[in-house]
Amino acid sequence: MSQHFASDNYAGICPEALSALLEANAGHAPSYGEDDWTHRVTDRMRALFETECDVYFVFNGTAANSLALASLCQSYHSVICHELAHVVTDECGAPEFFSNGAKLLTAASEPARLTPADVTRLVKWRDDIHYPKPKVVTLTQATEMGTLYTPAQIGAISECARAHGLRLHMDGARFANAVAALGVSPADLTWRAGVDVLCFGGTKMGLPVGEAVVFFDRRLSEDFAWRCKQAGQLASKMRFLAAPWLGMLEDDVWLRHAAHANAMARRLSDGLAALPGVQLRAPTEANGVFVDLPAAMEAGLRARGWCFYNFIAGAARLMCAWDIQAETVDRLLADARELAPASVS
Ligand SMILES: *Cc1c(COP(=O)(O)O)cnc(C)c1O
Repeated sequence: MSQHFASDNYAGICPEALSALLEANAGHAPSYGEDDWTHRVTDRMRALFETECDVYFVFNGTAANSLALASLCQSYHSVICHELAHVVTDECGAPEFFSNGAKLLTAASEPARLTPADVTRLVKWRDDIHYPKPKVVTLTQATEMGTLYTPAQIGAISECARAHGLRLHMDGARFANAVAALGVSPADLTWRAGVDVLCFGGTKMGLPVGEAVVFFDRRLSEDFAWRCKQAGQLASKMRFLAAPWLGMLEDDVWLRHAAHANAMARRLSDGLAALPGVQLRAPTEANGVFVDLPAAMEAGLRARGWCFYNFIAGAARLMCAWDIQAETVDRLLADARELAPASVS
């Protein structure tokens, strides 16, 4: 079957997650998260993050982000984020809806990465009763432009957020790619750098469906189970959301798949950047390549059947899923080379 660069979600379920899913299908088990699988994955997550975190499983990233943000603020608060953030552009107002009206305040730093200065500016811009009071900062890791926050960068934002009384949320739809690329521990990239809540992406890293909401400050998860239930996010057969995580987290399977995806993005990025007229829009630090292609090359690639989007700042976005093959990357590069303008030297 043909592979594409349109989205990491085009890929299927990785074999390790699928076999854990099939194992969990042996007979009856308690419902609504009272099963052995869910307990085991939760314990496994605590070991992975080296702390006693609270973990909840929901169906998708929009629910994970918006319910996590709603648990961090009241309706009259605001959430500081990047203007390209998924919570702003791709969640149909769910963060505002589930928080009963909290406002998103945006900054535009490149490449899709917030800075402490952004946070300070948006907090200090106004402090009167007429302005929605800033309460949360949300970071996307890896960012919507395929770049990363280092633990030091997260720590600096967290320090600034804390100084102003703000909480720190992380949209980790591609957290696996970030951990694999930076080679640091999941703890160093989250709570040790000041993250209060992580939405740990499962779907894009190769699960059939589902994301985990991980609360490092357990006081913040009070009543979160009820919030999930009300939002239609409490799975009755929770074991089928939970079990695939076990297959994924065993023996660093998740990091191996993510490292492979990152390496394929690097191969694609290097190959494209070497062609005349091609300009990388952002450094390739995880599994996505963001690039301005000559119009004829872009049209030619699409005409040859390649799928990719341009919905983030107009750049061509080429995502490498966990299963993308080197041969697929090389075929796209060969097509791009044929379609490249003759170089003028
Ligand atoms: C894919 C993605 C999500 C999750 O999206 P859903 O379609 O709701 O699962 C969240 N954040 C980012 C940055 C994403 O790329």
